[in-house]
Amino acid sequence: MLERTLAIIKPDAFRKNHLGAILARYEHEGFRICAGKIKFLSLREAEGFYHVHRERPFFASLTQFMISGPVMTLVLEKKNAITDHRTLMGATDPAKAEPNSLRKLYGASIEENAIHGSDSPETARFEIAYFFPASEIF
Ligand code: GDP
Repeated sequence: MLERTLAIIKPDAFRKNHLGAILARYEHEGFRICAGKIKFLSLREAEGFYHVHRERPFFASLTQFMISGPVMTLVLEKKNAITDHRTLMGATDPAKAEPNSLRKLYGASIEENAIHGSDSPETARFEIAYFFPASEIF
């Protein structure tokens, strides 16, 4: 069954001009890009998006990082999109990420790790709706 997931190309990867390489990789791996926009998140948006992490010690640092520059938010579609995108991203810490995964290739640290991806169908539903009205998903 076709599934959708939310991806964010985070400010570090955006700053380093990796947008094109990452989008090409998504297409190469069989994801259909069905929505996308470049955005500068407000602190409120970043805090709302990462609300599940609000008690974590890195919450303030993470949200400041996410508003340190523009991001690209995307909706990706394919069979098993959520799991396949998590595999393509690699482990949270780029140092531990699998060879050729996006975080291994483009991430710098456990915080500045280039990409976000939804981790479950419930999260994907919340995260897609957080950034995209249905009229902007094609
Ligand atoms: P993910 O699902 O792999 O993105 O990882 P999590 O949901 O656990 O964390 C969300 C985001 O918070 C990560 O992608 C990182 O940007 C950041 N993060 C996670 N763990 C740490 C940490 O230990 N320290 C810092 N500074 N940031 C972290």
